[in-house]
Amino acid sequence: MGKMRTPAIFLGHGSPMNAIEQNQWSESWRALGRELTDVKGVLCISAHWYTRGCGVTAMTTPRTIHDFGGFPQELFEIVYPAGGDPALAQHTKSLLAGETDVVLDESWGLDHGTWSVLVHLFPDANVPVVQLSIDATLDHEKHIEYGRRISELRDLGYLIVGSGNIVHNLHESFRHQDASDGFEWAKSFDTKIKARLADHDFYSLADYDRIDDNARLSVPTPDHYLPLLYVVGTAAPDEPIDIVCDGFQWGGISMTGVKVG
Ligand code: ZN
Repeated sequence: MGKMRTPAIFLGHGSPMNAIEQNQWSESWRALGRELTDVKGVLCISAHWYTRGCGVTAMTTPRTIHDFGGFPQELFEIVYPAGGDPALAQHTKSLLAGETDVVLDESWGLDHGTWSVLVHLFPDANVPVVQLSIDATLDHEKHIEYGRRISELRDLGYLIVGSGNIVHNLHESFRHQDASDGFEWAKSFDTKIKARLADHDFYSLADYDRIDDNARLSVPTPDHYLPLLYVVGTAAPDEPIDIVCDGFQWGGISMTGVKVG
């Protein structure tokens, strides 16, 4: 195991502005993209498609969704023209069939959790992209199990991307958009998660409320945290886990990126 598998990556997407800004994170995503060769397609689990039940985008030409407000017009004009991959959608549905009946979706597309990082990973948009939604009704360990189920896609050359943020507290962050470092509680939580990743202690990650006294400040809602569980769920026991970037945006958003394999 481990040899020749396409990696799985979790990226902290942070502000939508990272799609058009050149900064330490967008540069590290570009560097990561240059290492990713022969990727047949991307299956992305984005924090911004958080649903009751589970869907997978099955259209051939997914639209670019501008699911945010209060940002410059330039950001609303971005179109990320990657194609879809109905066969990958169908395959994903079949891999999860023992757990849940995944709906083949024709109405979603690519939300900013997906395209704001993919514009850097694959700037030519020449790799097809499918999104898998996060079923908000599941126990958290189930997201790791779903990751395990879809992990064989990596053996076939598909890149699994989780896009969220390990620490994501917008309420505390909006007033600190000039912060250059993380809040103490944010750094504490992020550091503890990194230690558990280094120990391959994945199932403890599902129980994040017990990881730190301030877990509720770091993860006030689970949507941005959960994509990490899919990515670690794909890991074989002996696979390396690397931190590919880190730091904090606006004080309370961790930009930690994780590569499995
Ligand atoms: Zn987000």
